[in-house]
Amino acid sequence: MSFFYLTPVKGELPIHLLEIIINNRLEHLKTVFGGAPETYNEYVIEGSVYDNVGHFTLCIMVILCVNREFSQFFMKAELEQFKRRLAALSAYEMRSFSKKLLRTIKKYENVPTHVQSLEVLCQHLMLKEVAQHVCSTCVNNCTVHKISVNFKSCLPLVARRQVELRNGIAEIPCSRWKQYLVMLFSQNLKNRLNNTGFETLKSDPRIMGLLAEIRNNYTLVEDKTNVLKSKDVDKTSLYFPPCMLNLHQSLRKKHRLSHSQRFYYSLFLKDIGMPVEEAIEFWRAEYRLHPNGSHSCCHTWEKDEKKFLYGIRHMYGLEGCRKNYTSVNCQRIQSTDNACSEGGCPFKSFDSSKMAPLLQGCTEPVMSKINELKSKNMYTSACMMYMQSCHVESTGCDNSSFNFTPVKYYMTASKNIVN
Ligand code: SF4
Repeated sequence: MSFFYLTPVKGELPIHLLEIIINNRLEHLKTVFGGAPETYNEYVIEGSVYDNVGHFTLCIMVILCVNREFSQFFMKAELEQFKRRLAALSAYEMRSFSKKLLRTIKKYENVPTHVQSLEVLCQHLMLKEVAQHVCSTCVNNCTVHKISVNFKSCLPLVARRQVELRNGIAEIPCSRWKQYLVMLFSQNLKNRLNNTGFETLKSDPRIMGLLAEIRNNYTLVEDKTNVLKSKDVDKTSLYFPPCMLNLHQSLRKKHRLSHSQRFYYSLFLKDIGMPVEEAIEFWRAEYRLHPNGSHSCCHTWEKDEKKFLYGIRHMYGLEGCRKNYTSVNCQRIQSTDNACSEGGCPFKSFDSSKMAPLLQGCTEPVMSKINELKSKNMYTSACMMYMQSCHVESTGCDNSSFNFTPVKYYMTASKNIVN
């Protein structure tokens, strides 16, 4: 597959994997958009299946989102990424990039004008000596090689008088070929975003769930008012799902959390908007205090400051392999063995007496419905029932428990305050 993204890959993929792929791509694009150097990300390796799936799925999201700012962000970031990848190609890679594109173009029934021009360019770039020239010795204003294309497919070059025009045919010199490839990439992406309709997908709860998540994530980064500060966590915890509220209350009471739960809780706080410096402040304040009561965690901030700082920065993708960790979904929390921790999903692990402090304001009828769902092992549905009764107006919530996460709970609850 080529990172020009002419055609989407075919096949099946579990939705949770699709979610991971597009969240990783979005994070990656934010890095590229911000001008920062790229870090290794297994979901955005150029030309891979994940890379292709991520690109095309985000195209769908941009089309369905109908948000000018988001679509401009996506266009600019994808374009910047394409430029970086193109600049890094060796002559050998440039040849195989061109050959792959030519194989794809051959399968087209009707070839659009800009793809016809791409075909002409690739037919030249697949030649060994031409690729070597373009990737190593070609300098500004070099005209050793030229291609002839319809002038309509290179209007920006025509406007800047960077090509020779004869009878509607433009001659593009080799020193402009990489620039021209970027132009064609941009044109191809714009065509896709402007001329593709996905009306039927609007009734697909899986796609709409992903779209809602992207909207939340994108807003979180752009909107500085959504930054969660360490000092505000207590009041914000009103909208935490019971699992995270339980961890928060345990931490405040004992000033310690078991290793795995500290990891889950930190990622949750990160994903609802806590920046790294606030996370350091938050954990420092708790781990400076003496542990209250017995606890398996023997760390203190004084003794283990370096470890803590590294661990937190690592979680934010700033240390080590620079992987961007994201918080886990309910299914994962519910399937984890919590024998040595604070409890995981309370709907699964807690009895009524332990549940009661976490489900404040829950009426008797709702409580009995929750118990009924719990008895059928429908823990996520029980949680959603609670969320709707406390935080969400009946019309404002997607009822699908599909791939539900504590972050989704928080996003929905904090945006739909009725109490
Ligand atoms: Fe947390 Fe999910 Fe359990 Fe709700 S269902 S308490 S969000 S793990």
